[in-house]
Amino acid sequence: MIGIINGEVYDPQNGINGQVRDIWIEDGKIVSVSPPLIPPKVGGETPAPAGLSNPAASPPWLGGTEGGQIIDAAGLVVMPGGVDIHSHIVGAKVNAGRKFRPEDHRDHVRSRTAFTRSGSGYTVPSTFMTGYGYAEMGYTTVMEAATAPLVARHTHEELEDTPMLDMGVFVTMGNNHFIMKCIRDGQREKARDYVAWLLGATKGYAIKIVNPGGVENWKWGRNVGELDDEVIGFGVTPRQIVTTLAWINDELGLPHLPHIHGINLGQPGNARTTVETIEALEGRRAHLCHLQFLSYGGEPGKSIRSGAEPVARAVNQHPNVTIDVGQVVFGEATTMTSDGPLQYRLHKLTGNKWLNDDVEGETGGGVVPMQYKRNNPVNAVQWLIGLELFLLVDDPWRVFLTTDHPNAGPFFCYPQVIKLLMDRDYRTEMFAGINRRARRGSLLPELDREYSLYDIAIVTRAGTARALGLQNKGHLGVGADADVAVYRQLDNKEAMFAKPYLVLKDGQVVVRDGHIVREHQGRTLYVAPPYDPGIEADLRAHFEECYTISFDNYPVAPEYLSRSEVIPCA
Ligand SMILES: [Zn+2]
Repeated sequence: MIGIINGEVYDPQNGINGQVRDIWIEDGKIVSVSPPLIPPKVGGETPAPAGLSNPAASPPWLGGTEGGQIIDAAGLVVMPGGVDIHSHIVGAKVNAGRKFRPEDHRDHVRSRTAFTRSGSGYTVPSTFMTGYGYAEMGYTTVMEAATAPLVARHTHEELEDTPMLDMGVFVTMGNNHFIMKCIRDGQREKARDYVAWLLGATKGYAIKIVNPGGVENWKWGRNVGELDDEVIGFGVTPRQIVTTLAWINDELGLPHLPHIHGINLGQPGNARTTVETIEALEGRRAHLCHLQFLSYGGEPGKSIRSGAEPVARAVNQHPNVTIDVGQVVFGEATTMTSDGPLQYRLHKLTGNKWLNDDVEGETGGGVVPMQYKRNNPVNAVQWLIGLELFLLVDDPWRVFLTTDHPNAGPFFCYPQVIKLLMDRDYRTEMFAGINRRARRGSLLPELDREYSLYDIAIVTRAGTARALGLQNKGHLGVGADADVAVYRQLDNKEAMFAKPYLVLKDGQVVVRDGHIVREHQGRTLYVAPPYDPGIEADLRAHFEECYTISFDNYPVAPEYLSRSEVIPCA
């Protein structure tokens, strides 16, 4: 048994807001949480933790060290391990980004240690560096935000190669030929069975929608701009794709929500179509990702202005919706997305190199390196919009911290974003240093709100775990996975969250003082919803007609995953 005792605990899922608790761990799970057994102030009697057989009477585990069985966390902040709801860390497009950007690797190298392997990369780090980097920040679960079904096998190979984290994969479906044909033919039950089959076949975790219909139209040199535009060759609309997949998500009882990257990402004026997308859901639950990139005011073709206010209002008015921000961090980034036409546009805007990809009958994508500069009026407005969303969305349970790594900035910049949210003076100082034109008329100086440690625990773990339907993550109650981050109390919140005192994964100390002390392999989390096996005959024909790979070779077999956990559907 391991005890983390006397810590100041932030566990919003269980309503614990800085109270001192002892947390007891056995076999990788939390088995007991109680007020301190040995109170920080001497005197008085403290009841033994529930579920322990009079532990005070059997003290051999007391007085151990953190390497042993007792971790004295007096004066330290204890939180569940971080849960990232949207990041691009593994798979074909991430690997394309690595190959495409040798300059990203040349100057950023991590040497081998007694506990860790070597690696390289800054915005697109290698698998080992990614796992270590997240763990060293106190994160223990990360969701890969997009994989094309056809290349899911590659994604799982990289998942197997990424240490320290439990991970799941969102599977792109917003431009899938089979689904669009079903919608065109009014066969949504067939689409539902296909989605269930596809998630099981790819060992995926959730439905991902990227620029619905727009990626297909890009194959014809076009895009979509409105929810009711037509997808060439299918006669369906982005609205139909979104609403059908949201219906399917509910029908299958998937643990997460349909994860939506809407239309017009990056385009001035897209705040309007984002609000329309929220309204189009008609109360169905959904998650809208990296909403900063989708909250732009102004007119198409003109310069970007903030559209955070109307978007935040729509989010506040629609409790069925959660969002993550995709906060811009000044510095190097690599944009990578299934949104093919967006990447072409970015290439044209920046003049930076561009990689385009097409995944037969399923989706497409691209990669473009990026640098966000304080002095650049567009980048500065993007930075402002992200912070405005964080501060204008009232309910922290529905707005989550991401940088859409590596699109708006690398994940290891999260502590800087936390400082921006918690420290208004730091925000003011940063604001003074950005492009003057971007500052004009900005809402930010009026927004006094500062996030508390409790709020941070929600937007980085409790809320994300809840939105993902991960019942054993994001909290420290009995039965939770023993993924725990222990931080020193520092005034500088960036320093505090950049270097945890300790991180435990599955009940083992894996990070001490911000450095890996033990390599640990996490699990792949996936869903396996039931479906009508009658669909397989149709699919076999579809594969023979349309695919370069045979139906039998397509699914990722369970044996392919060395450590996995099936998350149940409702
Ligand atoms: Zn993304």
